[in-house]
Amino acid sequence: MSRAFNFSPGPAMLPEPVLRQAQAEMLDWHGVGASIVELSHRGPEFIGVAAEAEADLRKLVGIPDDYAVLFLQGGATAQQALVALNFAEPGQAADYVISGHWGKTAIKQVKPYVDARIAATSEADGFRNIPDPSTWRLSDDAAYVHITANETIHGVEFRDTPKVGTVPLFADFSSSIASEPLDVSKYGLIYAGAQKNLGPVGIAVVIVRRELLERAGQPRADIFDYRSHLKGESMLNTPPTWNWYLAGLTFKWMLAEGGVQEFARRNAQKSKMLYAAIDGSGGFYRNEVDPAVRSRMNVPFFLYDEALDKAFLKESAAAGLMALKGHRALGGMRASIYNAMPVEGVQALVDFMRDFRERHG
Ligand SMILES: *Cc1c(COP(=O)(O)O)cnc(C)c1O
Repeated sequence: MSRAFNFSPGPAMLPEPVLRQAQAEMLDWHGVGASIVELSHRGPEFIGVAAEAEADLRKLVGIPDDYAVLFLQGGATAQQALVALNFAEPGQAADYVISGHWGKTAIKQVKPYVDARIAATSEADGFRNIPDPSTWRLSDDAAYVHITANETIHGVEFRDTPKVGTVPLFADFSSSIASEPLDVSKYGLIYAGAQKNLGPVGIAVVIVRRELLERAGQPRADIFDYRSHLKGESMLNTPPTWNWYLAGLTFKWMLAEGGVQEFARRNAQKSKMLYAAIDGSGGFYRNEVDPAVRSRMNVPFFLYDEALDKAFLKESAAAGLMALKGHRALGGMRASIYNAMPVEGVQALVDFMRDFRERHG
């Protein structure tokens, strides 16, 4: 068996030790005679797994006690809609800063529920930048301000937390949570689908300042109510136990590797190597994002002649470098280099890119 270096944007590569542990525990979890995925979510075994996952995530990300943590279904996209139902009155203003594709989906999800306002957008610039916070048109009566911390498709990342005054800042951290230290207290709410940097698809994490849960929000079913989920310990209905368990193993792996400080170091190193290979290619490769806001997680790049794209994808795959095709909205290539991607994977990519350029340049 040989595992490739997998640059998929999500579902993304998982750490090999996590997959091996899951494999070893698959048939008989901790001697109980069944897989964890065959046990009741109400039993002591799974309740223990869930509690450990929350404690480990709190330690990993540095989540203060006055923040609740929820493990939910519906991915990041469902949370994009639920934030309006839970924290905005019907038709209340909500401010959105759009720096790429996922900011656009976020605003689309809340349109039925709030007066969704575009406070700023870099769309005219092809999302190669983030609008300067001094130009944002924020509303005093907004329920929240929403940003996308890292735009997974456009490869644009906030490098500082913007200051937005007294209105709580909500952020989609799906593709960059736990990639570096994060000051949770600057946010009212953070959400993330797990399949980029936290583990498997099928579960999303919501981190919310507890006092915000006192807001009335809008009429909604219990299953769409964050307060009910908190009261029910994220088990209002049968939770995705397998995904929750795998996410928990991934949190333990990240802590054992040295936590977010260590991943910040590795991610800075990996992204520097890759951008240097692109910028130093004499125009053979190019990344079009303003260097000040280039993503450390998702690196879109183009070949100088798109007629070479097919050969690049075929030869890279043959070299054990998987899933480098760019998103269809942008074309070209994209390398997603989340926490699970080792430095050696990026080194192999950079070496391949040099070799390919020498043969086709
Ligand atoms: C992948 C992604 C989403 C969508 O996640 P789903 O879990 O598929 O709903 C939303 N926002 C960002 C930033 C993403 O990277």
